[in-house]
Amino acid sequence: MAKKAIIIGAGPAGLTAGLELLRRTEIVPVILEASEEIGGISRTIRYKGNRMDIGGHRFFSKSDRVMEWWVELMPPELAAQGEPGSEAAANPATTAPSAPSQPAEISYQGKRRVVTVPAHLHEESPLRGMGPLHHAESDETEEEDSAEDAAETVVVPEPENPDLVMLIRPRRSRIYYLRKFFDYPITLTANTLKNLGLVRMVRVGTSYMVSRVRQIRPEKSLEDFLINRFGRELYLTFFKSYTEKVWGTPCHEISAEWGAQRIKGLSLTTAVKHLVKKLFRATSEGGDLAQKGTDTSLIERFMYPKFGPGQLWEHVAELVQQKGGAIHKGWKVDRLNFAEGEPLRVTSIEAVRADGERRTFAGDYFFSTMPMRELLRAMKTAVPANVLEVSDGLQYRDFITVGLLVDRLKVTEPDGGLLKDTWIYIQEPDVLLGRLQIFNNWSPYLVSDADQKAGKVWIGLEYFCYETDDLWKMADEEMKKFAIAEVAKIGLLNAADVSDAHVVRVPKTYPAYFGTYDRFDELKTFTDGIENLFLVGRNGMHKYNNQDHSMLTAMAVVDGLVAGKVNKQALWEINTEQEYQEEKDKKQL
Ligand SMILES: Cc1cc2nc3c(=O)[nH]c(=O)nc-3n(C[C@H](O)[C@H](O)[C@H](O)COP(=O)(O)OP(=O)(O)OC[C@H]3O[C@@H](n4cnc5c(N)ncnc54)[C@H](O)[C@@H]3O)c2cc1C
Repeated sequence: MAKKAIIIGAGPAGLTAGLELLRRTEIVPVILEASEEIGGISRTIRYKGNRMDIGGHRFFSKSDRVMEWWVELMPPELAAQGEPGSEAAANPATTAPSAPSQPAEISYQGKRRVVTVPAHLHEESPLRGMGPLHHAESDETEEEDSAEDAAETVVVPEPENPDLVMLIRPRRSRIYYLRKFFDYPITLTANTLKNLGLVRMVRVGTSYMVSRVRQIRPEKSLEDFLINRFGRELYLTFFKSYTEKVWGTPCHEISAEWGAQRIKGLSLTTAVKHLVKKLFRATSEGGDLAQKGTDTSLIERFMYPKFGPGQLWEHVAELVQQKGGAIHKGWKVDRLNFAEGEPLRVTSIEAVRADGERRTFAGDYFFSTMPMRELLRAMKTAVPANVLEVSDGLQYRDFITVGLLVDRLKVTEPDGGLLKDTWIYIQEPDVLLGRLQIFNNWSPYLVSDADQKAGKVWIGLEYFCYETDDLWKMADEEMKKFAIAEVAKIGLLNAADVSDAHVVRVPKTYPAYFGTYDRFDELKTFTDGIENLFLVGRNGMHKYNNQDHSMLTAMAVVDGLVAGKVNKQALWEINTEQEYQEEKDKKQL
């Protein structure tokens, strides 16, 4: 009889595991999903014909294996993209730059990929190895230098279904602070200097000089770390408020190690070097000093499923079912049963529906993408007290997004058109709002035809909080009013221009690197000892994984099953050298 793998969660990691098992083994996957939706955090939310993305998911990976996996399922639309309602020509910001069948270049974090449609489609294996796991990505210089690097080529098939495609989207994101827009990442351009004003610039310079001669020692907190590298004024201007919004913890309570891991290689000196380089380059090219060369990191392009990230995962779910796997939605796993004896082995898991119905699913292999804190509590075996202490102490940051349909934004491009930003970091300390997405710019197809034609703007307001916060507990109507008032307060829209709103709460979006995380090894050692249990994905491993790394962990387990041995230690190492996409988004320099 065929062996069975029970997979907890129909997010990117669980679905990747399912499809990989079906493609490469005889093992039958059975996926149990607590919600009624497919895609986990990477799902697309539908609301009255419009679609929301939780956070905005760029599809870019440095792993060829992941890139090829994606484009094989959903090839990029390399032809010029028409807007719904044929407005392509009217809005170059939302138009793909490539002519039909020409290679398109996408880039992220200074890495480039050229996506081409080949003359012969099946020459290249869709999966060729694990892709790069280690990247020496330590400073900004790489971003600039890489512009000269040869781009990797990812070969893609011709799309068969015009709707099942990735769009190639231009990215623009800026910081909104002092009711003004700053480049993201912050660059020392004339615009930045003008926005900050002479007095603040002098304070930035002075406090930086002070930090050079008087370093805080020992460097205990993230606050110490940032002041030592940027000076107090720059820290207060661009780091403190946003970091605290994201993590809900004062910077002086976050460990300095976090900074070392996440903000390594960056300092004011690096930023000044950039400025000098850019000024020199601009002068030698005879261009505009303020702008020339500024945009190299801002003209990145990324792939994005036509109807949002969930479209890809819903497609994968269909394939899993077509190929003989099962997906049970609405079943929440709450028990793992074990065989007696050593080493520990799971025999079955139990899941409940909202109406209380309970079922047991027996299997040979078990994949978990559910939060580790809940997983450990669900284990019906003697879990050592220290291990439970660590898992109970894991912390998560939760997330609320409020979709607003608006007639117009109060701020426009100089020509009066819609702002071209895909998202904007809200650095203003007088509001809780953390980020604002303009869904029209992610994909025009996230906006219904009728709203497109009416020229409506569909935005997402993002709040980072804890499930215990008053904000999380606010009734939907109250939350809508609160969010509208905030975005009106900072001058981005008039409240009267909002025609509809939708609130979505997403628990456990960010596994936190504080709480008991410093004792994580105790937990890992225990779970690694459970022979047929494989922890994969983001909350499944309590790792700040993007989709690609979540997928790679699932792929690596299947690789191991095919090879006859899964190297659990190697699973934890996937991504340790690499910065996470959103993490880069979050840091402010
Ligand atoms: C704001 C934000 C922006 C992001 N931006 C990007 C980006 O630009 N690019 C990118 O690649 N990634 C991005 N990510 C990361 C991406 O969303 C995740 O890496 C990815 O969704 C993780 O996949 P996963 O399968 O591990 O987990 P999840 O997506 O969390 O899926 C886990 C699934 O398990 C289910 N589940 C949980 N508990 C149980 C249970 N007890 N029983 C049954 N089912 C259960 C959940 O309902 C869920 O469907 C972003 C994330 C956030 C929060």
